[in-house]
Amino acid sequence: MQAVERVIKSGWITQGPEVAAFEKEFAQYTGAPYACAVSSCTAALHLSLLAVGVQAGDEVITATHSFIATANAIRYCGAKPVFVDINPNTFNMNVEQVAQAITPGKTRAILCVHQMGLPCDLINMVRLSEKFSIPLVEDAACAIGSEVFFNGKREKIGKPHGKIACFSFHPRKILTTGDGGMITTSDPDIDHKIRLMRQHGMSVNDLKRHQSNRVVFESYSVFGFNYRMTDLQAAIGREQLKRLPDFIDHRIRMAQRYHQLLRDIPNLRLPCEPEGIFGNWQSYCVRLTGSVSQKSVMQYMLEHGVATRRGIMCSHREQAYPRETWACLAGSGCSSDCDHLQESERAQDQCVILPLSFSMTEEEQDRVATLLGEALTT
Ligand SMILES: *Cc1c(COP(=O)(O)O)cnc(C)c1O
Repeated sequence: MQAVERVIKSGWITQGPEVAAFEKEFAQYTGAPYACAVSSCTAALHLSLLAVGVQAGDEVITATHSFIATANAIRYCGAKPVFVDINPNTFNMNVEQVAQAITPGKTRAILCVHQMGLPCDLINMVRLSEKFSIPLVEDAACAIGSEVFFNGKREKIGKPHGKIACFSFHPRKILTTGDGGMITTSDPDIDHKIRLMRQHGMSVNDLKRHQSNRVVFESYSVFGFNYRMTDLQAAIGREQLKRLPDFIDHRIRMAQRYHQLLRDIPNLRLPCEPEGIFGNWQSYCVRLTGSVSQKSVMQYMLEHGVATRRGIMCSHREQAYPRETWACLAGSGCSSDCDHLQESERAQDQCVILPLSFSMTEEEQDRVATLLGEALTT
């Protein structure tokens, strides 16, 4: 609250010094050479795809099993999402299917997702991207503070490992600014393009003009958008960033506690981390493997005072995605119950996300575990 008060009193409340400071601190945190703040992760994804050259008629390979913003950003560019399935253990994109989905000349980008904060198989994803010279954009909306073993050491998501990584600061994520997003890259040209496009392609931004002691006129060399972050949001983000290591430590401890509390419950598969991949535990997502339905488990828990959420949904099953708007490995040969996306559909139907928050107590967590056990055995 003090940080926001400082901004209001300063008289400069949108895309100014606080945004610049937040970008610098965020770049330091992730290890990225460049970071550019925008109004949301959806905006970040849109600008990133444009910056790597995605145009109308192109194909972009991505996951259907993701928040719908991932696929929507591809359609904003007039391009077509080509959906591949996930690995059922990690909920992340199956790299072999990505390789099969590449069509030289048509595939303009790969948009991978670090689902629920767990990094995808970046080593193989980057290898594929380099082999085919197709840019890799990372939807890291949920993955702030997550890490991967890469180049012989642990590195933060957002360094970035692909061409660009996109983060979200929506309240559902671990670091929030109300709404907001960040784009990290190690390519100065990409950073420059994105900075122009986030503010209508304006050649001289307000801050630079204000700081200049000579009269400068702006021009508009590229087509752009209003995807600015405000200084009020950035000031909140800077405070949140200071606390982020504590937030993440707490979540890792709570996740480990869930593993212990839930390990003996029948018909339940717990989330896990593959070797060399370290999530921030943005979500603790369990899979129901028995005959008890997702909805009845959630209903039982709700009636006993615990709200859960179902797992990630599949974009290709939504009404907003009629069959001609997307493709899969079968081209356009299957219906919205797609043979090639079975693991994605199964994950949507079988998974439940349990409560996990900074303010949650151990007693509350014990109660969640007890209720889940009851729901699955009575
Ligand atoms: C939340 C989320 C987004 C969208 O983020 P916004 O900041 O709300 O636009 C995109 N992709 C994934 C995987 C998400 O979880």
